[in-house]
Amino acid sequence: MQIPFYRVKLEEEDIQKVEEVLRSGWIGQGPQVEQFEKEFAEYVGASEAVALSSCTAGLFLALRALGIGPGDEVITSPLTFAATANVIENTGAKPVFVDVDPVTCNIDPVSVKAAVTPRTKAIIPVHLYGRPCEMDRIMEIASKHNLMVIEDAAHALGAAYKGKPIGSIGHVTSFSFYATKNLTTAEGGMLTTDDPDLANKIRILRLHGISRDAWKRYTHSSPVHYQVVMPGFKFNMTDIQAALGRNQLKRFHEIQTRRRRLWNMYRERLKNINGIRLPLEEEKGIVHAYHLFAVLIEHERITRDEIMNQLAEMGVSTSVHFHALHLQPYYREKYGYKPGDFPHAEHISTRTLSLPFFPSMSEDELEYVCECLKKILT
Ligand SMILES: *Cc1c(COP(=O)(O)O)cnc(C)c1O
Repeated sequence: MQIPFYRVKLEEEDIQKVEEVLRSGWIGQGPQVEQFEKEFAEYVGASEAVALSSCTAGLFLALRALGIGPGDEVITSPLTFAATANVIENTGAKPVFVDVDPVTCNIDPVSVKAAVTPRTKAIIPVHLYGRPCEMDRIMEIASKHNLMVIEDAAHALGAAYKGKPIGSIGHVTSFSFYATKNLTTAEGGMLTTDDPDLANKIRILRLHGISRDAWKRYTHSSPVHYQVVMPGFKFNMTDIQAALGRNQLKRFHEIQTRRRRLWNMYRERLKNINGIRLPLEEEKGIVHAYHLFAVLIEHERITRDEIMNQLAEMGVSTSVHFHALHLQPYYREKYGYKPGDFPHAEHISTRTLSLPFFPSMSEDELEYVCECLKKILT
């Protein structure tokens, strides 16, 4: 059997909706994007949503719009995708990594608090694998030190913390619709916030810094001129993507129900195997987004990488989320990070293994992955 790490499975209706846009005479940013923003904001309980070309663009524009740049520090987790720290670096600010909690794998509020300096401007918590961070404690630190909280929710669409959906808690939240994420527009992202001025600024920044309000000053009878009010970017979404996203949002509950079922099936099949630590069971007050099924390989005889190779030989593709960022050459060389700086993140980084996990995975496929793992480990 060949099991891919991820297989995109769109419904016939998703394809139809895209086709309608393709035939409509308007394929750029238009009415579909506007509708998608409205429906998404409502879904996560935020007052504003801004559709973008990626989650990376969202994180970057949030920092930019908040005026974060040279001389500033932004605290984040080293156990994340490159984008989370790269965007901080690209504003000219300094990414400050802090260690994660060894159980939740998420940024540790105690370490966040200890890393705050007079230069700190923001915190970017990452809801790793779809498990929400300790948002109460993070928001408390932020409010005490007047910091902005920009959530990297690339894994967290569908997650909730103490009754509040992710997307309605921090000052800004950035979601990803990359091909393998819980909802996909092939490439795409969405930023949510309750601050209308900030949302407006980001809407201007996403499209060349052209003010839409300026358009309104012209009547229908006069020519439409625009005004460049800031040096913006080209980070907008198209109606083709939005149509795809809207149709998945409509059945998102169904998608998540399937993910949850497969997740619990994995947990059930893999329990009581020596040397493998499973993700936490369902926790009170937490709704997991079930984005990745990542296990920790804590075996005395065999390493994570050896298991990955053996699984690959058996036809099972796996992945690693993530290799600790502070030990990547760029961050190491620029900031002098070294092994031992963040022991929990490093422990997880060398042992975490993401198993094939996607809604269209069949139960036979899941069984096969578990059988292979058992064969290797026992
Ligand atoms: C996928 C991902 C991103 C980037 O999302 P894009 O939409 O591809 O820009 C950022 N952070 C994390 C944790 C991710 O997994």
